Amino acid sequence: MLVSHKTPRAFLNKTGGFLEGYEYTLNPYTGCAFGCKYCYVRKLPVSLFRKEEWGTWVDVKEALNGPFLRELERARKKGPVRIFMSSSTDPYQGIESKELVTRKLLETMAEFQPDFLFVQTRSPLAARDIDLFKVFGSRILVSMTIETDREDMRKLFSPGAPPLKARMNALKEIKENGIPAQAAVAPVLPFADGFPDRLKQITDRVCIDDLFLGDGANGRRSESLGMKELFQKAEAEEWYSRNQLAQVITAFEKVFSTENVKVNKEGFIPFHKDIQP
Ligand code: SF4
Repeated sequence: MLVSHKTPRAFLNKTGGFLEGYEYTLNPYTGCAFGCKYCYVRKLPVSLFRKEEWGTWVDVKEALNGPFLRELERARKKGPVRIFMSSSTDPYQGIESKELVTRKLLETMAEFQPDFLFVQTRSPLAARDIDLFKVFGSRILVSMTIETDREDMRKLFSPGAPPLKARMNALKEIKENGIPAQAAVAPVLPFADGFPDRLKQITDRVCIDDLFLGDGANGRRSESLGMKELFQKAEAEEWYSRNQLAQVITAFEKVFSTENVKVNKEGFIPFHKDIQP
């Protein structure tokens, strides 16, 4: 893993409207060591302009409390501050246990709170920051990606990402501490019978997305990332189909209440009322 340390000019990036309901994205790192094979960021400039392959490098953004605090204050003067952390990295990838960039940013946000904070991760390390998540009350949603309950699929599609059981345990712990949280079954990978029931034991809300609706290019990015071939290799071609999403939604709605089965961007729109911490 190629690791560099950088001092960013700013942490908050304007979303420009591409993430409905959010004014800013916050990426504590550039690059992502998890290197999921389906990651659409592989096809974005942040990856395309680097020589090294996505998943083999990470830039650590040096987080200083003072400058980030002033950034939050300036943002507040301009209007609502709803933050999506993170859109092109995982804020809890392995290096975070040593570098603590995400934790330092959370400490600053706990001091000067945004209107809403969305935390998207697939790492059990997120449970480390339960003490800070609590400070945000109902103005936070922690979203833990659990695309499947099949480790063979995890190893094929995202071998660098943490094991599924550890993610499930972390999500359970986060929920049990009263923090609004969901499982993101996104992108849906082939799963075993009873997966919705297993998730229901640890969370009351799921967000479902697939490689067509969810890649931001109507499936073209997923196609160019070789997903069709990977599903063939998994002997699960029937799962790589635009029709599959409806069946998955139906399976989850048999177990979860309909209003708690969110699809695509519904799963990350800021909320204040529909989940009680
Ligand atoms: S964890 Fe997220 S950002 Fe990182 S490689 Fe996987 S999909 Fe991409």
